Amino acid sequence: MSNAKKVALISGANKGIGLETARQLGKQGITVLLGARDLARGEAAAEQLKKEGIDVRAVKFDVVNAADIKAAAALVEKEFGKLDILINNAGVMFEPIGGNNSSTVSDQVLRDTFETNFFSAVAVTNAFLPLLKKSAAGRIVNVSSILGSLTLHATEGSPIYEAKALAYDSSKAALNSYTVHLAHELKGTGIKVNSAHPGWVKTDLGTDAAPMDVVDGAKTEVELATLGPDGPTGGFFHMGETITW
Ligand code: NAP
Repeated sequence: MSNAKKVALISGANKGIGLETARQLGKQGITVLLGARDLARGEAAAEQLKKEGIDVRAVKFDVVNAADIKAAAALVEKEFGKLDILINNAGVMFEPIGGNNSSTVSDQVLRDTFETNFFSAVAVTNAFLPLLKKSAAGRIVNVSSILGSLTLHATEGSPIYEAKALAYDSSKAALNSYTVHLAHELKGTGIKVNSAHPGWVKTDLGTDAAPMDVVDGAKTEVELATLGPDGPTGGFFHMGETITW
């Protein structure tokens, strides 16, 4: 068991922004636990990063599976005795953006979206909090979206005013609320909790229409994961700029 190197766990890191976040944190010398609900896909992604000299290990981590969460927490406890960085990055979107589906979205889509984007982030964080408290500088990053901003959705003419998708947007708004509540509870512990908006990024979720690539898309997560002692907590950020709730 070694306490010297920082250890980060990233959910949904087998592809997209999560994988690039793993790469960028790994390049800073941080040990990366690459969470993937499909271990084979996680191991394939970890192999790529190992070739780039990154200290990485794939972990089977389906965030809606309580047994996976428990097993991952036990593994981190046994191997490292602490966790420095938790990035709740896994996310789903089952609706088209725009068109406003508030009266038509199915109960199933609402529940499935909340299960991954909100409830799992709470369950995962609770499972890892005892290990984050053992870090000298615990950092929790909840990967949200500008689409979770209630203020911008309510403001005619804002960039997201016409981009309404009830399940996704409200799940990210709930995640933002969790950020504010948890940061308040953890005040004085040294642990910082923030929400990240990665930007609109070319991934399977963001589609090819997105203007940003994953290299830039990972930057906000990386920045919030590596905040110094004077950094903010309980905020919502994109590339160092505050996003309105
Ligand atoms: P992505 O390429 O579709 O990747 C999503 C990741 O989440 C995949 O690794 C996926 O695993 C994983 N995932 C989904 N459900 C999971 C579960 N139950 N357990 C574990 N992993 C699960 O999407 P992305 O764009 O990188 O999204 C990453 C985060 O950024 C999400 O939270 C998303 O909401 C947020 N975000 C993205 C954008 C954008 O423009 N791309 C904008 C704002 C916010 P599988 O490979 O097994 O499906």
